[in-house]
Amino acid sequence: MSTIEQLRLRQVHLDFHTAGMVENIGLDFDPEEFAQTLEDAGVDSITCFARCHHGYLYYPSKLMPERIHPNLKRPNLLGEQIEACHKRNIRVPIYITVQWDQMLAEQHPEWRVIEESGKPEGTQPYHAGFYRRFCLNTPYVDFLKAHVKEVIEMLPTDGIFWDIVAPMDCSCPKCKADMIARNLDPSDKQTRVDFGKEVEAKFMRDMTAYIRTLSKDCTVFYNAGHIGPRHRDLQDAYTHFELESLPSGGWGYMHFPLTARYARTLDLPFLGMTGKFHTSWGDFHSYKNQAALEYECFQSVALGGSCSIGDQLPPNGKICKTTYELIGSVYNQIKAVEPWCTKVKPVTQIGVITPEAFTLASGHNALPKSSQGAVRILQELDHQYDIIDLQADFADYELIIVPDEITVTDELRDRLESYVADGGKLIALDKAGDNLPCLGIKYEGPSEYCPNFLHVREGFAGLPDADHVVYEQGSQVSACDGTTVLADTIGSTFNRTWEHYCSHRHSPSTGEVLGPAVTIKDNCIYLSQPHLTQYQLNAPRWCKQVVGAAIDELITRPMLKTNAPSHLFTAINEQADQSRYVMHLLNYVPQLKSEQIEIVEDIIPLHDLTVTLNLPKPITRATLVPEGVEVPVTESEEGQVIQLAKLNNKQVIELTY
Ligand SMILES: [Zn+2]
Repeated sequence: MSTIEQLRLRQVHLDFHTAGMVENIGLDFDPEEFAQTLEDAGVDSITCFARCHHGYLYYPSKLMPERIHPNLKRPNLLGEQIEACHKRNIRVPIYITVQWDQMLAEQHPEWRVIEESGKPEGTQPYHAGFYRRFCLNTPYVDFLKAHVKEVIEMLPTDGIFWDIVAPMDCSCPKCKADMIARNLDPSDKQTRVDFGKEVEAKFMRDMTAYIRTLSKDCTVFYNAGHIGPRHRDLQDAYTHFELESLPSGGWGYMHFPLTARYARTLDLPFLGMTGKFHTSWGDFHSYKNQAALEYECFQSVALGGSCSIGDQLPPNGKICKTTYELIGSVYNQIKAVEPWCTKVKPVTQIGVITPEAFTLASGHNALPKSSQGAVRILQELDHQYDIIDLQADFADYELIIVPDEITVTDELRDRLESYVADGGKLIALDKAGDNLPCLGIKYEGPSEYCPNFLHVREGFAGLPDADHVVYEQGSQVSACDGTTVLADTIGSTFNRTWEHYCSHRHSPSTGEVLGPAVTIKDNCIYLSQPHLTQYQLNAPRWCKQVVGAAIDELITRPMLKTNAPSHLFTAINEQADQSRYVMHLLNYVPQLKSEQIEIVEDIIPLHDLTVTLNLPKPITRATLVPEGVEVPVTESEEGQVIQLAKLNNKQVIELTY
């Protein structure tokens, strides 16, 4: 368990992967210039390099001098970075690569992960890249222990950042032999995947215990590019979490809020790690738009985390002024609101169970579509919510949403039934309706037609008296006695096949009611169609309206409502020891301006913004910070109201109670 109460808020993760043929490494490094530039940019922690993916060291190792970069001109580049930063109270955790090392992969092919086909995993011999994974069930672990021992004994070590530590599907001789010795069948993929998770967990726990024999209190983190429900049971190996999530680097703009809203329900503090790059790691001489970097950093503090911005030091060691003017333009704004961003506890009303709680996925590329759709819809509707797993305390939430990808196990059914019996509110979608008696429906199976159409009764969700297509396949149910139908499912003429099809896409509605599309019974609403997945795929507005109306049926006093356009990002934290809430309003618009990535560039001010609040404790005063300008709080039927004449890029508002 971590003893860290608060991570440094304004961190940099400084990559330094430098090929052996590049000359004059560190030649232009000036420790004073380096640390002064960081201080001016408001940086309070910077992760610097012991060993990189090319396999080189940047400190004067006695243990493995042959691995020191051959063209290193500052023999103790890392030590000088640490010393200069410590003089200015800047922390310096130390980076060590784990599963990728170009030089070592050539020298120790027997340590590499072997695929099912018998080939070594990763980059082929004549392709560019060092992406060749080591198996952590080999003597490579002894190499790493000797390496980290030397680092900690030789250098003042604030922390160790172990990079590239992920569970692997490995068929190397050692893994095969170990599986066979335990009567496991290594030819079965799932067996290997499960064994790989054990290998990873054992590596991390052993390594953290070993580090503790060398350093009582340095931070320890193992990076795999994603934090999710599989980390709940691994928390003892970590001191904190770093959520690597570069929106322009393959993670997109949905990964971070989804991951942070989950990570903040765990026991460790976390930071959000983005990059200063236009695209991703290793993108030399590129600069993210300031508006984008602001959005990413302020989103992290709004969700209760700290910030980390990825950069790469040029090989000559001269820190880039332009980069740190950019980072400073954001971090000096974060610094100004720091008193409102530390030791915070998120204030939430809704818990969304993530399908990842069942898959325990390890990568960021396979996030469930339904939980991403939930994040989009709830964010656009200004709701305050967490993403939760099956160990979460459901009683912390007024409403639980069970997304459409979830198959409800008997254990989850029992927990949800008792939550509802105790007054909890529940929304379940699509096949999550199977095995939940409290919904008051009879689940009959997947719907016969795909797509189906939704037709509301009595203006539910503000939708007109018309059929609305939901493209993805939903479920067929019937309503039990005592359950009210709010919308019907209407069938298609036929499914589109070679034998029968109509026009360019799906066939039209028959007008025939097949069963309920939306039902309500007491505190439970069921939606038979997969609105969350559908919203993630192509965002039909009616799907959001139906989900929003279902929430409004159950939550009559939402914590926060605004009259803003759907892109406004809102979050509320509590600082109980200061008797106040802190509200974050972020007015940034990611646009798909290019084939490859979303861009945030322009700031379009909002005018006459109204925020209506129903917080657990009524507020007595609202103050814009850090400006210190008080704004009136008025009482209305709907809640406590704050009005802003104009919102530029963002605003933090202190709400005293
Ligand atoms: Zn192996």
